[in-house]
Amino acid sequence: MRSISDAQAIILDLVQPLDNRRDTEVVDLLAADSRILATPVTSPLDFPHWDNSAIDGYAVQYEDVQDSSAEKPTLLEIVEDIPAGYQPKSAIGPGQAARIFTGALMPVGADTVVMQEKTRREQNRVFILAAPKPQEFVRHKASFYQAGTQLLPAGIKLNAPEIAVLAAAQCSQLNVYRRPRVAIFSTGDELVTVDESLQPGQIVDSNQYALAALVRESGAKPLVLGIVKDEPVALEKVMTHAIAIADIVISSGGVSVGDYDYIDKILESLKAKIHISAVDIRPGKPLTVATLPVVPNPQLPYSLLPTQNSTLYFGLPGNPASVLVTFWRFVQPAIKKLSGITGDWEPVFLKVRSHHELRSDGKCETYLWGRLHLIDGVYEFHKAGGSHSSGNLVNLAQTNALAVLPVGKTLISPQEEVQVLRLG
Ligand code: AMP
Ligand code: MG
Repeated sequence: MRSISDAQAIILDLVQPLDNRRDTEVVDLLAADSRILATPVTSPLDFPHWDNSAIDGYAVQYEDVQDSSAEKPTLLEIVEDIPAGYQPKSAIGPGQAARIFTGALMPVGADTVVMQEKTRREQNRVFILAAPKPQEFVRHKASFYQAGTQLLPAGIKLNAPEIAVLAAAQCSQLNVYRRPRVAIFSTGDELVTVDESLQPGQIVDSNQYALAALVRESGAKPLVLGIVKDEPVALEKVMTHAIAIADIVISSGGVSVGDYDYIDKILESLKAKIHISAVDIRPGKPLTVATLPVVPNPQLPYSLLPTQNSTLYFGLPGNPASVLVTFWRFVQPAIKKLSGITGDWEPVFLKVRSHHELRSDGKCETYLWGRLHLIDGVYEFHKAGGSHSSGNLVNLAQTNALAVLPVGKTLISPQEEVQVLRLG
């Protein structure tokens, strides 16, 4: 049995990030949000592109106005109006000013902008009522970014701020990592699809839907392979196919010690290296993690040809709560590392206050699901009501955090501090 921290280290060690020479694609900027940049971006444009005004006011020569005050205002002649987007026609000489607006080009000769509120206008003249600082309110060309240097590094996720930067730099197409491919299938004779009518003893395969959603939320592409019966031949066929087409394979069910739990045996027969066969976690203890050598199938379309030397296999236990918890705790960090993103792949834990009493038998690291609520500016964890059995799925709805009770900890009292894994 592996501890959770050992299991996490082993899993992250097994993941090779996608290759920025092969595993990339070009996307339009409008479709680039949430993607991972694969090539650093450099712009031929300076930011700002030109010297311009940071406010609405008057462009002046500092020397003219340095002694201005309300009692002794400086009087300047207005030679031009410069709205944003227009090129100034006149140069500013001594005793002159231009009316200027935010973002407008600084006219030649002016070096400072006096804010409108510190002036009084009279027809074609303006009184400067306070001395500005030299060069005040001028945004100088290239003061934010110099053309030709790195604007954005590779390995970052493109969110709204990065998309804005790329738009301003006129990068209409981006080289991003392809989405990791994650094959998913469910195992169990008792499973039916959402559309089939239930016979006695049957249950709906909810794991496949949960996993497809989780994979997509993680920025990867789910390859949904359906339900497979607890039959070694059928399982081996699907597993062989999944390994050939995906970077990561996730199955649910069949990894426990029951008579119909075949996954580990088939992995062995497929020459897999089994790195983890159980983890000290509840729910999710029978988790299997293996790697399998990839044998490319020449009949597969190019888009499905593997680029890694081995495929990472997660055999998740079948219980619906186990699937969610083990995905969040172990699979998501692996997908993150694979995706090409640089930085921290590990899950993020927060220390918060527990609203309810939390209990465990102390034998395994225990994860209880619930919601974080902001109470007077402090996060409080509210455990979901109802059963925390790994077979109960219903009260997992609306979960946004998992409270963690470490091995040996049997009780966390109300208002006591608790570590939570924040989701989403
Ligand atoms: P197993 O890990 O195969 O022993 O399954 C453990 C429990 O999870 C059993 O009660 C199964 O019926 C249930 N289960 C297995 N696979 C699924 C699935 N795809 N969707 C929902 N429940 C499942
Ligand atoms: Mg089963």
